[in-house]
Amino acid sequence: MLHALVLAAAAAAAAPDARIRAAAEALTPRLVETRRDIHMNPELGNRETRTGALVAERLRALGVEVRHPVARTGVVGVLVGGRPGPVVALRADLDALPIPERNDVPYKSRNEGVKHACGHDAHTTIVLGAAEVLAGLRKDLPGTVVFLFQPAEEGPPEGEEGGARLMLKEGVFDAPRVSAIYGLHMDPTLDVGDVGWSIGPIFASSDRFVIEVDGKKTHGAYPHTGLDPVPIAAELVQALQLVVSRQIDAQDPKVLTIGSIHGGNRFNIIAERVTLEGTIRSLDAGVRAALKERIARTVAGVASAHGTAARLRWVDDGSPPTVNEAGLTRASVPGLERVYGQGHVREVRPQMGAEDFALFAERVPALYVKMGVRNQARGITAMIHTEDFDIDEGVLPLGVRALATLAWDFLARGGVAAAPAGRK
Ligand SMILES: [Zn+2]
Ligand SMILES: [Zn+2]
Repeated sequence: MLHALVLAAAAAAAAPDARIRAAAEALTPRLVETRRDIHMNPELGNRETRTGALVAERLRALGVEVRHPVARTGVVGVLVGGRPGPVVALRADLDALPIPERNDVPYKSRNEGVKHACGHDAHTTIVLGAAEVLAGLRKDLPGTVVFLFQPAEEGPPEGEEGGARLMLKEGVFDAPRVSAIYGLHMDPTLDVGDVGWSIGPIFASSDRFVIEVDGKKTHGAYPHTGLDPVPIAAELVQALQLVVSRQIDAQDPKVLTIGSIHGGNRFNIIAERVTLEGTIRSLDAGVRAALKERIARTVAGVASAHGTAARLRWVDDGSPPTVNEAGLTRASVPGLERVYGQGHVREVRPQMGAEDFALFAERVPALYVKMGVRNQARGITAMIHTEDFDIDEGVLPLGVRALATLAWDFLARGGVAAAPAGRK
């Protein structure tokens, strides 16, 4: 079976670059219009009702088989090519952020206080565009492409399930069985027209924690008659940074941030409790586990040294690091070069931000690429997750071509992740 697929692949060669390019370029006005429509109507995680419905309707119009809603508001499209072959997935995320829009643009957010500040409007548009291009070339497509539009990448509201974890739980990799996946993110640290990749981790793991330190209320003038949790919390802040700087190999990237501390209600009353909230990041599963274990030990030890108790709680299961599989990445870079041009495909360093695409990448070989959206001449330079973030829309047709090409090349290789021997 595998042998037959490999032979079929050899005959199929790579993606039809010129046809993909022509289709993506013809689609450009529609891509801009779609991105602006989604940008003007941003929706928070697990509430992407309008966006999910828009995607489902567009996919149905293409004759793509659609499952909707999946994982609350998500959509799965399955495009079966005219020729037999393996199955590859392309993933986009649907959700926006609770950040106001400060840009004075015609496509400014109409949903007060909510904005596509992470570029997921563009991700959704690009994967939809890839579906449109590939559906137009369906007759020759050597396999099946699954389009995944997931809700709540930024995390579901507390107490709700969501995101990639819920998509997987609802079986989006199972029927048809997906054998590799590609994902993308807008990147304002790269110029529009450039694309970034890396082998191994490209985004960090992320875990969120809450620590509660117990105290005993009393008059601030007589602390010995109660128990003051404030200096204990202060000691914990320092002790936790020592875990990072003294207990884990300096060669291993990691971050621990305490982002919030709350306790007490008056200047001369000893507080009842102090609550600290924070996050840890790492690029390696072993480092992540070591951090978690040492944080627990430090919290318990510092509290006990002062005769009190402290509780550590991990808010959810977190995300592992996002890891680009070496074979798939090496085999995919030539396709990116055909789209972007050789000098514009850059190996980039991993970042300490996180992505729940990581959960898909744990299951099958994956490649997550960063698409440049910066345009200094036009003043488009703001970071993601800011009120000023915007993209150069030139990324839209390039992104469509890139994803359509990567998917097609993978199918044409017969679903073999790695490049043929002799290529690097
Ligand atoms: Zn984000
Ligand atoms: Zn994002």
